[in-house]
Amino acid sequence: MRLLVVEDEVDLASAVARGLRREGYAVDVANDGHEALDRLAVTAYDLVCLDLNLPDVDGLEICRRLRTDPSYAPDPGDAAPRVLVLTARDGIEHRVAGLDEGADDYLVKPFAFAELAARVRTLLRRDAGRTGAELRVGDLRLDTARFEASRADRSLDLTAKEFALLRYFMSHAGQVLSQEHLLEHVWDEHADPFTNTVRVTVGTLRRKLSEGGEPPIIETVVGRGYRLLEEPVG
Ligand code: CA
Repeated sequence: MRLLVVEDEVDLASAVARGLRREGYAVDVANDGHEALDRLAVTAYDLVCLDLNLPDVDGLEICRRLRTDPSYAPDPGDAAPRVLVLTARDGIEHRVAGLDEGADDYLVKPFAFAELAARVRTLLRRDAGRTGAELRVGDLRLDTARFEASRADRSLDLTAKEFALLRYFMSHAGQVLSQEHLLEHVWDEHADPFTNTVRVTVGTLRRKLSEGGEPPIIETVVGRGYRLLEEPVG
């Protein structure tokens, strides 16, 4: 899952980004409104943490453009990003306005990081049309709150990136996902698009998913990408 943190308080922005990266998300940061709009125009984010009080462009304006301006329309196959608005305690009318402009949820500053992380998980789950902290596909189980994954009751020992990749596959089970799409949604801006990092990580994830002798569950669709099978073949 690829997230954008829009926040002009630099320390707060990097603390939030750091925390979200520890949760296994790919996170970019924009410290003002123009940078946010530039990033939103080129990258298909899954979720945006949006501070309303920015020095240049009002956060509400960003929210409105995201929902109405065709230059921010998602590519076919991508959902529009979820928007979690961050607002000061005295901005009650702004909160209501934010929801009117298409925000999905809001959080009042100051907030505990655990609260932000919980809201983010909920919003991303809503995208996947699931409830509870657990994702299930076939014999795969993934607990997004506890960072535990298992296949056929065999616990999987995954790196943070493998966990994030599996979570993304499970949220899009049955869909063909190209390497470019995975790079955009599971890695952040520091990933080099010319390396084979996606192929290598898919490879190690596949190996770990079948270490107990289980049948392959991530198939290669030649020329198009990868697909997590909703029911394993075998
Ligand atoms: Ca601010």
